[in-house]
Amino acid sequence: MLKFTRQSDPEIAALVDEELHRQEHNIEMIASESTAPLEVMELSGSVFTNKTLEGYPGRRFQAGSEVADKVERLAWERAKELFGAEHVNIQSYSGSTANYSVFASVLNPGDKILAMRLDQGGHLTHGSPANWVSKIYTHVFYGVDKETERIDYDALDKLAKEEKPKMIIAGASSYPRLIDYERIAKIAEEVGAYFMVDMAHIAGLVAAKVIPSPIPYADFVTSSTTKTFCSARSGMVFCKEKYAKILDKGTFPGSLGSLMFHTMAAKTWSFKYAASEEFRQIMQQVVVNARKLAEELTKYGFRIVSGGTDNHLLVVDLRGKGITGTVFQDALDAVGITVNKNMIPFDPEKPSVTSGVRIGLTSVTQRGLKEPEITEIASIMNQVAQAPTDEKNLAECKERAEALISKFPLYQAGAFDD
Ligand SMILES: *Cc1c(COP(=O)(O)O)cnc(C)c1O
Repeated sequence: MLKFTRQSDPEIAALVDEELHRQEHNIEMIASESTAPLEVMELSGSVFTNKTLEGYPGRRFQAGSEVADKVERLAWERAKELFGAEHVNIQSYSGSTANYSVFASVLNPGDKILAMRLDQGGHLTHGSPANWVSKIYTHVFYGVDKETERIDYDALDKLAKEEKPKMIIAGASSYPRLIDYERIAKIAEEVGAYFMVDMAHIAGLVAAKVIPSPIPYADFVTSSTTKTFCSARSGMVFCKEKYAKILDKGTFPGSLGSLMFHTMAAKTWSFKYAASEEFRQIMQQVVVNARKLAEELTKYGFRIVSGGTDNHLLVVDLRGKGITGTVFQDALDAVGITVNKNMIPFDPEKPSVTSGVRIGLTSVTQRGLKEPEITEIASIMNQVAQAPTDEKNLAECKERAEALISKFPLYQAGAFDD
């Protein structure tokens, strides 16, 4: 894939090779990552990257759109069929801009948003003081129950009635449990709020129907198309037909500029692939693997936040092991297992230290890892935790990790031969 770059710029080509080598030799368990199929890579690098277009099929601001129009229309049909949605807008550049376009569509400055706390699983774009949306809208946050570590729906209900938000957002970056969309939709209806679900992390599981879909319950559903959806670095938004016009206007010209047709082409392919039996089986195995890892780590005395997982990720509380998230993240990194430190609910540590790690199973499942390999990963993780700064221990663990992952190629042989 780097035939020309290798000639004109060996330096950057070498960095791509280096990154490919890193990915091939690592056990990738960052919960937001997945491996893009080769078709997604091909299409993301296709001639559609040359086409500048704004607007929608039949209403473009530039000429020469006839082929691109066919792509966008095909994407709409496939996406609506796949997710059972009334309307889709696939112009978003990412999950973040997908959220911004919904805000731009229906909110005014000063409007109140009720969303999940960042330190208990929510996302920056839902109203963190560090994100620009906090300068425009006011925010109130709900969280999880201290005992169950699941969303405290009674508290959410009470807060919604007190605060009367204009919008309620469900969806998170590190919440391992199913969300009761029906219940939140009912609360939103009672207080007259829009209900938006951000399914960035779980869109692949939803598409494959291995976990329930928010589409029937929410006014708007936003998503990144990387993460479990395993597609291009891009985004998408679904809504009820009654909001179709307002969403399209809020997206363009409301919040975005010209389109990224190369990633739109890649997403179009993924809307077909995600309906396949192959994808369904991978997504089903992702959930099986996540449960297996939670079970095995529990056997080794790790505490799993909320006691387990229903999706592709788990959050591990390391306090019982006497180590912090940073220490465990760095020790695992040294042995070739990539995870990220993560706040646990009511975490006593600072965000830069944390008491936990978040572990995702999408990438390793795409590579073909099943229960026996997950059991081995749990055992390696346990050995790492026992002596996370002992070099001899880490060297041993690295050997075990390498022996395991070397049997599962990242891409088919020869995929990147020039
Ligand atoms: C990752 C994430 C986003 C942002 O998606 P990007 O594609 O990274 O912009 C938004 N919301 C949630 C819940 C996420 O996890």
